[in-house]
Parts: sequence; C-alpha cells; structure tokens
Amino acid sequence: MKILVANLGSTSLKWRLFNFADGQEQLLHKGGYERVTNHSKAISDCLNQLKSESLIRREQDLAAVGFKTIMARGVTGCVKLNDGVLEAMEACNHIAPAHNPPYVTGIRLFAQRMPSVPLIGLFETAFYQWMPPAMTRYAVPEAWHAMGIRRWGFHGASHKYIAERSAELIGHQEVAQRARQLYLGGASTPTTPPDLRVISCHLGGSSSITAILNGVAVGTSMGFSPQSGLPQNNRVGDLDPFALPFLMRSTGMSLEDAEVALCTESGLKALSGGYNDFRDIEEQANQGNAKAELALAVLVQQARHWIGSFLAQLNGADALVFTAGIGENRPALRSAICANLDQLGIYLDEEANQNTLAAEGLISPSEWPVKVMVIPTNEELVVAREVKRYLDKMQATVKTARPAARKEQEKPVASFSKIKSKLEK
Ligand code: AMP
Repeated sequence: MKILVANLGSTSLKWRLFNFADGQEQLLHKGGYERVTNHSKAISDCLNQLKSESLIRREQDLAAVGFKTIMARGVTGCVKLNDGVLEAMEACNHIAPAHNPPYVTGIRLFAQRMPSVPLIGLFETAFYQWMPPAMTRYAVPEAWHAMGIRRWGFHGASHKYIAERSAELIGHQEVAQRARQLYLGGASTPTTPPDLRVISCHLGGSSSITAILNGVAVGTSMGFSPQSGLPQNNRVGDLDPFALPFLMRSTGMSLEDAEVALCTESGLKALSGGYNDFRDIEEQANQGNAKAELALAVLVQQARHWIGSFLAQLNGADALVFTAGIGENRPALRSAICANLDQLGIYLDEEANQNTLAAEGLISPSEWPVKVMVIPTNEELVVAREVKRYLDKMQATVKTARPAARKEQEKPVASFSKIKSKLEK
C-alpha cells in the first residue's frame, strides 16, 4: 500500500512516499519544491517525478494522499477530506492564516487532479483530545468556550511521534505501544506503573512544548491558534488580549492589518529586527547584534517558562526531548534552555550535546534523573501510519457493511462527531 504524504505551505510543497507491505513500513521517496507560485504545476511535477522514478505507474497506484492538516471547526482526528471537512477548515482560515488556506487550496488541487484517490487528513489538534479540562479551558464566558474559544494544541503529529519514540528509547514498551495506538484505543488504554513523564520541545520555524503522561498529551504551550505560546519565526506567540484593542484604538490600525502583522511581522522576526531564520539570528547574536540577542533570550525564557510549568504539572519529568529544526540542530540553544536547572534534575553532558546534531542521542549524563534527549521528529510517518489505519478500517467495515450502511461509514471518525455535537449544542 503506497501512501503519499504532502506538506503544503503557501510557497512550498514537500512530500514523502511510504510503502506498507508485509507488516513493514518503508520510505520510498522524499522531495519538495520551495518558492512555489503555481501549486497545480508543483503537484504535477511531484507526480511526474514519482512516475519517472518508477515508484508509481499511475496516480491510482496511490492508496491515498495524506495531509498534516492543522485545524477545522468541529473536526479532529484522522478524517477523509470531503467538501464538508474542507469547509470546516475554511471556517478556521482566520485562526490559522499561515496554514489553513494553502492546505485547503492544495487539497482541492489534489482532488481535481486525482478524484478517485482518497485524500485523508490527520489534524494537528488530534493529539490533544484527552487533555484535562483545566488545560483546555480559558477563563471566558461559557458561550465563548462553546464556540470553540479554548486551548486546542498543535504540532500533534510531531509530539505524538516523540511520545512513542521517547518511550521506546527509555524502554517503556507499553507506553510506546499505547502512544502508537492512541487514535485507536484512546487515552483509556491502561498502562502499568510507574508513570512515564515526558516534556517534548518542538522548536523550529513554529515552536511548541507539550507535556506527555504515559503517551498522552496533558498540556501544551499552544492555545486557540497556532500563533500562540512561544514566539514563532514571524508569528507573535502569547500576547495579552487587551494589547490588540489598545493598539487599534491608539493607532487606528484595522483588524485586518493587525492580524497580518501578528502573523507575518511578529515573533522572532520582530524581536531580532527582521531575521526570520534561526541560523541568521544566532549568527547576528554572535556578532553582538543586541536585538538578535534579545530574540534568543525571549525564546529561551519562554521555553523555560513552559518547561517549568510542565515540571510542576507532571511532578517532575523522566525525559526532556528536543526536536524539529532548531531543537535538533542548535546545541547552544539547548544549553541555554537547560542551564541552571540541576535542582530540578536537568543537567547536560555538554560534549554529548555539542556532538548531537540531527540525530537521536542522550545529551545528559546517564545517571541524572531527567534524560535529556534529541529525537529527530517524523511527522510524515505519523500521518502515513494513521492514514493506513484509516484505510484498513474502512476496508474492513465496508467489506462487511450492507450497501445502505456504506455511506454512513464513510463519515469521519468518532472524535469528529463527538466534538461537532458538543459545539452544536
Ligand atoms: P523547522 O520548522 O522544523 O523546519 O525548523 C526551521 C528552523 O530550524 C529554522 O529557523 C532554521 O534556522 C532551523 N534549522 C533547520 N535546519 C537546520 C540545520 N540543519 N542547522 C541549523 N538550523 C536549522
């Protein structure tokens, strides 16, 4: 079974092609284009490349195309991307303006190009379905909460991968299995004590920190939108809600202009004086650029803020994991984040830290209570696995269902209906 996972940005298309056969999973191909102005052409080029390398003969050789979709009104989990779901994604375009519009446009182009191939999305919010109410709830009127103004959590595919892989590396196979099966078994699947407490730091162009207990997310730095939490590359991160009306009243700025500024001219870019890429910010800071130094200091402070919060929530941690572009590749930032935390059980083996780049590794001395680890994330693999599970489930149920029941079974998975009905109340 061949599954293509497509990662759609406003000016990029990246993909990975996986094959699932005889219980084995294999990455067959990885590629992408930057500075894309015509997504339709980019999709054609991607498919032509797969054909020219004899990975597929025709588009129907793909069992599905999977997408790491961000958010949709009333929808989460792993779902077939039909018109209803795409409309639900569009309803969130203003909440995730950097992410949802390119996905909706790209998915529609895939649908036009290959109408008979199922398009399936794993929503980034899915990993956070089991967070305790105290973590999801903002202190707003009940009616606002019912509208969906709550903490959702994002980067679910990445943090789910870390939940599973960190448990495997530490030797808690039951927790690893529970994390792997989470979208099948849910958070009620039992585990045997002792608990496994993991704090996962996804630090990249977009950053978030997640508290994971026995393979299940119990806390996240991300809130209602992917603009929240830590300062992002050019998106704002956490901001007091009263700053926005103050700004608009004081300057006459329109809501639309303020939204654009919060999503494209804020975050590390605003702090550093215009640098969007972490490598440039670090280089500038090393040359004594005070704004770049401040950008780094704010990121470090915010990361420590959330790590501290989750240490309290979890009553300590067994593992602190760094992942994504910055977390995997920037030892100096890992050092700064972990500095002076020895009283909390966190201490780095500096040599191991400096030598661990884009590879799995333990970067704390083995006898220290908190295992500080680097684990390269693999979001596309998580998407491909869930898409395969979705297809297997559909195939099994459709085989046994009477024709009249088939339409019903094509509906999105349970988590969708549950949340939707809650929102509609
Ligand atoms: P991501 O969103 O995970 O792709 O991460 C993007 C960020 O990670 C950018 O700010 C890059 O500066 C940084 N990054 C990505 N790859 C590397 C690398 N190989 N070395 C250093 N920094 C990197």
